[in-house]
Amino acid sequence: MLAGRRAWAEVDLGAIRHNAATLAALVGPAGLCAVVKAGGYGHGSVAVARAAIEGGASWLAVALVEEGEVLRRHGIDAPVLLLSEPPVDAMGDVVALTLTPTLYTEEGVEAAAKAVVAAGAAPLSVHVKVDTGMHRVGASAEGALVVARSVADRPELVFGGLWTHFAVADDPSLPFTGEQCARFDAVVAHLGAAGLRPSLLHACNSAGALAFPAARHDLVRCGIALYGVAPSPAMAATDLGARLRPALSLRARVSYVKQVAAGEAVSYGLRRPLERAATVATVPVGYADGVPWRLGVTGGEVLIGGRRRPLAGSVTMDQILVDCGDDTGVLAGDEVVLIGRQGTEQITAWDWATKVGTIAYEILCGIGPRVPKLYA
Ligand SMILES: *Cc1c(COP(=O)(O)O)cnc(C)c1O
Repeated sequence: MLAGRRAWAEVDLGAIRHNAATLAALVGPAGLCAVVKAGGYGHGSVAVARAAIEGGASWLAVALVEEGEVLRRHGIDAPVLLLSEPPVDAMGDVVALTLTPTLYTEEGVEAAAKAVVAAGAAPLSVHVKVDTGMHRVGASAEGALVVARSVADRPELVFGGLWTHFAVADDPSLPFTGEQCARFDAVVAHLGAAGLRPSLLHACNSAGALAFPAARHDLVRCGIALYGVAPSPAMAATDLGARLRPALSLRARVSYVKQVAAGEAVSYGLRRPLERAATVATVPVGYADGVPWRLGVTGGEVLIGGRRRPLAGSVTMDQILVDCGDDTGVLAGDEVVLIGRQGTEQITAWDWATKVGTIAYEILCGIGPRVPKLYA
């Protein structure tokens, strides 16, 4: 850590290994694909990928070719699935890096095959994505047959997988995930009748893997659960959710402490005058680091000295202010926990998310690039 660094994220790779092993054991004989897009949900993709593989993951998945390149550059040789069809002009890189592209258009199939020929490379394994109701990306049920046939007909390509993605698996009470499963099974049967059999079938994200055992097929694609965070607050309260260990904590040190008189307010907007004189601690972490601005108006808290302490005013770009009440024992240099445990208290990514009206995913991905990561 650079001298003077006052805020950092601690990533517990033992927790990643534990979560990967827990998920792998749960879904076996299906395999585990560790989703490490977006810098491993703010945890660092390379370190998470290695820990996930140690824990039992056999596949990795990312959103972008660039993200796959980072994994390969760091010597990671596990299969890497690209979760959307890469741009046509990126297919050369896909082949050079031996990434596994997801395909759902004729142009994509053709570009992938051409890139293999141009590189004189061995046949490339590709996965075909069918849209069963989320309507983000993927071929229609009929389109998937055409794309799969086109893949199977080309000697440059191997039909390595067929997959789909759930829209509402994080609410297992909704019947639509069952509907998506039925549509997926129908496509699989349709392809099978046409002699098209991919090596792998997969459908589940974390929520699906946890709540829909029959949908696990050959592989589950887990992101959020790998990081020890449940896909929804309700799922966090289940037995399975409780077996996951949050890997990330966001920490800082108090940089400055002062006494502020009753009736004075602090930070931009001077929103809330103090009801009584208070010790106010300044902590050098702000919205540029991923602390949502809205936490300042919706009751955000941090932990100092093992106690919950409310924010005293608006979150600023680089700093927050904490109301320590009549506690004069808080000193510059004290450790502050924004997300994570201190003593018996804990603040989770979902605590923040529910306070500001978002999801834990966005909180984790929002941890800014100037927050260094320390691996333990
Ligand atoms: C991001 C993503 C996942 C992982 O989702 P989690 O809810 O984090 O487990 C799986 N599949 C696809 C297609 C994704 O885009």
